[in-house]
Amino acid sequence: CGIVGYLGEKNTKEILLEGLKELEYRGYDSAGIAVLQNGEFSNYKAIGKLVNLEEKTKDFVTSGFAVGIGHTRWATHGKPTELNAHPHLGESSYVVHNGIIENYALLKKELMADGVTFLSQTDTEVIVHQFEKNLKIEKSAFEAFAKTISELNGAYAILLTTKSQPKTIFFAKHGSPMLVGVNSDNEKFFASSDTPLIGHATDVNYFEDGDYGFVSSDEIAIFDKNNTKKEAKYSKLSQNK
Ligand code: GLU
Repeated sequence: CGIVGYLGEKNTKEILLEGLKELEYRGYDSAGIAVLQNGEFSNYKAIGKLVNLEEKTKDFVTSGFAVGIGHTRWATHGKPTELNAHPHLGESSYVVHNGIIENYALLKKELMADGVTFLSQTDTEVIVHQFEKNLKIEKSAFEAFAKTISELNGAYAILLTTKSQPKTIFFAKHGSPMLVGVNSDNEKFFASSDTPLIGHATDVNYFEDGDYGFVSSDEIAIFDKNNTKKEAKYSKLSQNK
């Protein structure tokens, strides 16, 4: 299982698919990507090997600024089907997640009582619906995301993109690995390990448990588990595989 994310102006599709390939060794049963480009989402999922996802996306073209998230899934809740593959959609947001949301059943019950329809059997899907529930109450997408993270128990590396704040990727890490990489072209790269970032990012920050926040072209905002803003701790990324 693995996670990748990209925000920048280069070939978003290729960067996501190549990044997922670098994470294949971690094992997976299905894969998917979601790209937000010119205000519209494109989403592709496939069970089995990444070649199936490559085949499905062969006519999909990205150009210019885009944000994208990608995932290889190792099913824990819900069978390895296309419907259960990530990214998971809410009304206008997509999420990818590695790990397990321990309290998903309770959150799902509350959301269903509010009239939310679930499309998958995963624990992950509660994250995106809980975020959108909070979006209706909170002042900003960031506050809605922060509230959502505070309501989750379990292990997670999470990336979320939303039309409500389109040029942004929201992230959270607790118990599953994730890092962010940067370069002088204002590109931002997320992944579960550093190999997908080689050849792209020059400097990387490994998130600590409890870290969450967001990135845009010109900002990386990281908060710790006590909601205190902290600086990224960059190290040079070795460019040898
Ligand atoms: N628990 C989630 C699922 O079953 C994520 C699994 C993973 O880490 O890939 O969909």
